[in-house]
Amino acid sequence: MPLKYPHLLSKSRFVSGVQCSKKLFLDLNRKDLKPAITASQQAIFDQGHAIGKMAQERYPNGMDLTSQTHYDYADAIDNTIVEMQKKTSTLYEPAFYYDEVLSVLDILQHDAKGDIHAIEVKSSSKFENYYITDAAIQYWVMANAGHAPKRFSLLQINSSYVKNGTINLNDFFKLTDITALVIQKQAWVSENIEVLKSMIRIGLEPIQAIGRHCNNPFVCDFKTHCWGNLLDKDKVFNLSNGRDKIWTLYNDGILNLANIPDNFELSHRQSCQVNGQLTGATHIDSPRIHQFLNKAVYPLHFFDFETVNSAVPVLDRTSPFEQVGFQYSLHIVSNITEEPQHKEFLAQAEDFTNPQALNPRQAMINQMKLDFGTTGSIVSYYATFEKGVIERLAEDFPEEELFLKDLNNRMVDLLDVFKNAWYYVPQMGKSASIKDVLPALVPTLSYSSLPINNGDLANKTYMSMIDGSFKGNVNETRNNLLAYCKLDTLAMVEIWKVLCNVN
Ligand code: SF4
Repeated sequence: MPLKYPHLLSKSRFVSGVQCSKKLFLDLNRKDLKPAITASQQAIFDQGHAIGKMAQERYPNGMDLTSQTHYDYADAIDNTIVEMQKKTSTLYEPAFYYDEVLSVLDILQHDAKGDIHAIEVKSSSKFENYYITDAAIQYWVMANAGHAPKRFSLLQINSSYVKNGTINLNDFFKLTDITALVIQKQAWVSENIEVLKSMIRIGLEPIQAIGRHCNNPFVCDFKTHCWGNLLDKDKVFNLSNGRDKIWTLYNDGILNLANIPDNFELSHRQSCQVNGQLTGATHIDSPRIHQFLNKAVYPLHFFDFETVNSAVPVLDRTSPFEQVGFQYSLHIVSNITEEPQHKEFLAQAEDFTNPQALNPRQAMINQMKLDFGTTGSIVSYYATFEKGVIERLAEDFPEEELFLKDLNNRMVDLLDVFKNAWYYVPQMGKSASIKDVLPALVPTLSYSSLPINNGDLANKTYMSMIDGSFKGNVNETRNNLLAYCKLDTLAMVEIWKVLCNVN
């Protein structure tokens, strides 16, 4: 049966199409080319859904007009027409339709005068330009359907909010009026709607060169299809921290790192990478490495945190998206030739939501005070991260400030050696991440066999244990978390040993 309101475009299709018309074509016709949704992406969708529900609580007692299906919005559109006529004060997911374009708004309010306030919810705290595109297409459909909003707002998360007991929804969210920006874009929206509709009707894959638009505002799902071997390690798109240089080279027809002309300006790390690609040569800057190693004071404390950073803060005194430590690993080395001593901490997930339990951050600090000696350098990989977590702990637990600030004063960043290419092995490619440095320097140690083998997965897994959505075996998963964090600090010990062997 034909749909009552067949739509060629929707908000998501429009946003996809203005990024790249070919992307929209592939979205509609070649779903088989899309990579499967990763656990990380699913967690972001789930978080967006949860924030959407909280936003509805921020505007309570609304009428939910959510469509029963995702292909036929007739029920939602018809119900919206009825409720708009009645000027029902708050609507969730009202659907509007005009000239084959569908728009589903997050929240709509009628004020006392009957004026419309359209609210688009974003589960982020930062402003992105494409939010205006999102809102502008919604406004266009609503206005043409006879329901022009008087006011259009973004409802986002207030990153300055600090949890103190139950989440205060008025303070947790921040509202930004974007009406003028949205109205300014209406002519642009009209033009693009016609272009995209015509492309869909013709039904031929548009010819579209790759470009910066492939990563902006979203990394396109079809890069493997369009970019092909340009994504390979030996291509200029993998130039370390390449940015504008990449596009200059590409536009000059230079595709391979090995073909970059000698007179093209490169940073030291980029030169090491290109030279490594040409000759397979390792670069070792012995004086710099010795200088770096000599700065460190024994006993060395190789240290790493794991954190959660949920949009909705889980502990009092923390803010949305704050990195909250739940675990650490510490290898202590008095002499690099001796076996390191290992210490670790992993909070009980249930303590995050049990007001009777000792605050897990306090429990972690207590354990750190037992585990850390009072002298010796603390070696981290990307120490900015560990320092940031410790600084927030010092702010929130002022009675522990002296101890915590001393830790930060003792911090040494092992990343410096690889970020600055004082030690560069071609196998590292463009990356200075410990995940790429370890196999290049210590091939006998590997993350690959670990069930939890990256920080993002550790974060998401532990967060699911906190919020109660975790489905697996708790003890086994705790052991997997401990094994992962332990390998991070053991990896640092082994990398340090390699550096010590540099002549
Ligand atoms: S990879 Fe680039 S060119 Fe290809 S569809 Fe995506 S945005 Fe368009």
